[in-house]
Amino acid sequence: MTPTTANISQSSIQLYSIYLELLNVLAEIHILNDSLFNFRIVNRVSSTLAYYMDNIEQQTNIPGFSIDACTGRPMPYFLKHRPKDPHRQRAIAVVVFRNGKKIKSELVYPVHRNNSASFTEFTKHSEEILFEEINQLLQKYGAKVRNIFIYTYYSPCLKRGNKYCDCMTQLVQKAYQWYRKFGIVTVVYFSEPWGPSGPDILKDLKYSDISSSSSALYPYVDQEIRFIVDTKELKQKNVFPFIKEIEDGKDEKKKLKEYLESANKHLCRLRENSKGFLKSQHLEHGLKYIDSLTFHKKVHKRIIETFKNNWIELVNYCSMSAIIKILTSVYNKAVVKPFLGDSGFLQIYQVPSGIEVEEGDYVELDNT
Ligand SMILES: [Zn+2]
Ligand SMILES: [Zn+2]
Repeated sequence: MTPTTANISQSSIQLYSIYLELLNVLAEIHILNDSLFNFRIVNRVSSTLAYYMDNIEQQTNIPGFSIDACTGRPMPYFLKHRPKDPHRQRAIAVVVFRNGKKIKSELVYPVHRNNSASFTEFTKHSEEILFEEINQLLQKYGAKVRNIFIYTYYSPCLKRGNKYCDCMTQLVQKAYQWYRKFGIVTVVYFSEPWGPSGPDILKDLKYSDISSSSSALYPYVDQEIRFIVDTKELKQKNVFPFIKEIEDGKDEKKKLKEYLESANKHLCRLRENSKGFLKSQHLEHGLKYIDSLTFHKKVHKRIIETFKNNWIELVNYCSMSAIIKILTSVYNKAVVKPFLGDSGFLQIYQVPSGIEVEEGDYVELDNT
């Protein structure tokens, strides 16, 4: 197992302040409605980090807090498992004894008994289920164990209401206890960064939240992303009031109404041959058609302008789900990053997609 990139040589305190700064910036630029929520993330992460640092600095025999510039690493072959659904949270542990013997846990899934307050006490995350199993085993064999390997599909959670301790803090605390008591080094692998609260964290982000050029997220607005324009969301109500302004006869009014309706229908059909378009292509597609339209002289200019604005608004709106997907992955990765790497008693790595498992002997394990 060799890190892909050299460690950046920075003192623990320097690293700590860099990550704190990063988290503050992240909290600031993510214009979420709930700024208190962001404040809590920063506090949670920084207090966990502070705990981490404290313990490391008191123990001079523990190697310093170091983070590989690249913290991706394939997991050992013995953590391999066959999930029913590859995108569903699950976790598995392998305890490795000093004599080389290995004990593998069952594949465990989180237990969520509905969300009503009275039932949340039955909630158990997969990591917690493993912690309990591991503690039981260590009571018996602790001194004989060399390593604990854990795979969890999502990185351990960082935020979990007021009643529960998040899994990352629990992991740091448990791993530290196991190290102090038995000299065990815990190694954790995950596939997807869960971030503070999972993949829905930015779901309420609106185009207007990021479209001001002063927003730190503005560069994402014009990302080269492909998306589908859902013309069902096209809002055209504001073009029909122009009909009332036509005063030269009923026929002219009727003509304009029909013309507006047919233009609207045509715009709605544009989705049929725009699959996989970039934003610029979607815009051009609609605006070019709008430019080819001619309406009654009195309202022509304003109708064209209204149509164009509606189309631009639609394209911006539809680009958001793709932008949110990118931003969520950036955000969740950045929030999890301070925890990655080797801190002596605990190592946490993200499994790179494509090379999930490292090469090794495929030996059968003694299952319990
Ligand atoms: Zn949960
Ligand atoms: Zn958790």
